[in-house]
Amino acid sequence: MGSMNEEFDFVVVGSGGGSMCAALFMRSVGKASVILEKTESVGGTTSMSGGVMWIPNNRFMAESGIEDSIEKAMRYLDGLVEDCEDTPGATRARRAAYVSEAPRMIDFLVSQGIELLRSPSWPDYYDERPGSSVPGRTVVARLFDLNELGPWKSKLRRSFLHVAPLYSHEGIQLITMKHSWTGRSVLLKLMARMIAAKLTGKQLVAAGAALQGRMLKAAVAANIDIRLNSPVSQLIVEDGRVVGVRTKKDGKDWRIGARLGVMINAGGFARNQKMRERFIPGTNAQWSNAGPGDTGEMIEEATRIGAAVAQMEEMVGQQMTLPPDNDSEFYPMIQMEISKPHAILVDQSGRRFMNEAGSYMAAAQNILRRNLTFPAIPSWMIVDDQYFRRYMLSGTLPGAPRRKAWIKSGFLKAGNTLKDLAIACQIGPETLQGTVTRFNAFVEKGVDEDFHRGHRVYDKWLGDATHKTHPTLGKLEKGPFYAVPVYPGDVGTYGGIVTDAHARVLREDGTVISGLYATGTSTASVMGRVYPGAGCSVGPSFTWGYIAAKHAAVTR
Ligand SMILES: Cc1cc2nc3c(=O)[nH]c(=O)nc-3n(C[C@H](O)[C@H](O)[C@H](O)COP(=O)(O)OP(=O)(O)OC[C@H]3O[C@@H](n4cnc5c(N)ncnc54)[C@H](O)[C@@H]3O)c2cc1C
Repeated sequence: MGSMNEEFDFVVVGSGGGSMCAALFMRSVGKASVILEKTESVGGTTSMSGGVMWIPNNRFMAESGIEDSIEKAMRYLDGLVEDCEDTPGATRARRAAYVSEAPRMIDFLVSQGIELLRSPSWPDYYDERPGSSVPGRTVVARLFDLNELGPWKSKLRRSFLHVAPLYSHEGIQLITMKHSWTGRSVLLKLMARMIAAKLTGKQLVAAGAALQGRMLKAAVAANIDIRLNSPVSQLIVEDGRVVGVRTKKDGKDWRIGARLGVMINAGGFARNQKMRERFIPGTNAQWSNAGPGDTGEMIEEATRIGAAVAQMEEMVGQQMTLPPDNDSEFYPMIQMEISKPHAILVDQSGRRFMNEAGSYMAAAQNILRRNLTFPAIPSWMIVDDQYFRRYMLSGTLPGAPRRKAWIKSGFLKAGNTLKDLAIACQIGPETLQGTVTRFNAFVEKGVDEDFHRGHRVYDKWLGDATHKTHPTLGKLEKGPFYAVPVYPGDVGTYGGIVTDAHARVLREDGTVISGLYATGTSTASVMGRVYPGAGCSVGPSFTWGYIAAKHAAVTR
């Protein structure tokens, strides 16, 4: 190895989902890792996220008596994720590796003291497909007391649920608190938790921050070297093998050698507008809730040394609104809202064009596809007064007094009649009326004949179980009517560096770039162009990190 300032067994670029998992595995077999994070915070978008991991056949399902198996999960993925030449991240060999290693990765985390549990109910997104799981395959971290991090406490990136120590599934129930006992009981639980935390001096966090907080605590306890403000600018290659990286230390150039390998876990390119224009035209970095470090340079650097990239046009889309007075670092993600009764989505001509209650990735794909033939960016979420009083709108509580400010700025359109609303949105009144009349007739029948909204268990789960006639279908019939513009936003990109079933980086010709591994949204997803269930970004990031470390630890 040429002139290096320092050497480790394993060098990890970025502190995303798989990073600390890989480093902990290395430590468990007596190897030393360094994690180099370019920002001032640990945890990446993973820390900001819901922290949900999609793990088929996991130990918590077995403990709860929920049936699953490798075969069943493979049946589901094989039917859903097509084997295509242009999705080399999603080969059958990679799917098989994912399905068998993901539960082992969870067992490994548990052995390292990471406290996890399963969400009680989170149906797979395509539950009508063979091999799906209706109870769901999601695993999350137990709530975590930030004070357990000691001096690292302020270094953990914050989650989108930072305001309340709530499990994601509880958050979903909480939004029905105005009219359901389940929602109210979650509110009571939350208040009791907050009071208990105050009395005991705890600072509880949930979701991604709980997951990455627990990982960080374990990593610090294992003496893993984690360095912030340490951007990696270059992969160092000698005789065709990646032997280290170029980074900064105290503002100076610094070369770190890697005896067993380098792993890229540096996120995707959601925050890089130039890359978006090249690969996902028509989308905007401002519509993304991905972390600030998601700027894609490690994908470009891997390409420079010969790595293949694929599936670059894919992103984990989300129906997003952009309220003008948004004071959070996250824009409202409205999948859960638009799936509620008395709400529909229409394009700028006033026509529905999709099942509003399905997967968020599919929803954004639908908006982008629709926009090729009819203007649909933004589309309009249309609701009536029943919706307005009962459910959240663009992240605010039911009936919240945001209306005036939003109307003044033009973000929220309102009309006493559908005709008035159509005029306010510059939609043909007759078209919108026709759309709503047709939709209301479907509600009457309990069947959406156009887009099968409510056909899946998942659609209903996203709706409102307490709604009398149907969980996701409700008529738009009581004025005033309201509309907000909806964009094909995202929570990250889904294409990137092509890797094999050991997480090794591949060239265009399919040969391995020796010494280089990659995981997470830096890579072309093992799920191809679909999102099979909640946690298909974080679960794979952890799992491929684990697979990479296992491979690197034994092959040299
Ligand atoms: C609000 C929200 C909720 C979400 N909920 C879920 C969920 O519940 N489940 C799920 O599966 N997905 C969820 N997602 C998506 C998911 O969080 C991300 O896709 C995933 O966390 C990406 O993880 P990663 O490991 O690839 O990278 P990240 O966690 O993004 O980590 C990458 C890190 O690398 C650093 N980095 C980048 N370049 C360099 C460089 N050159 N040198 C050094 N460091 C670098 C970045 O700063 C960053 O810290 C959510 C996203 C959001 C925004």
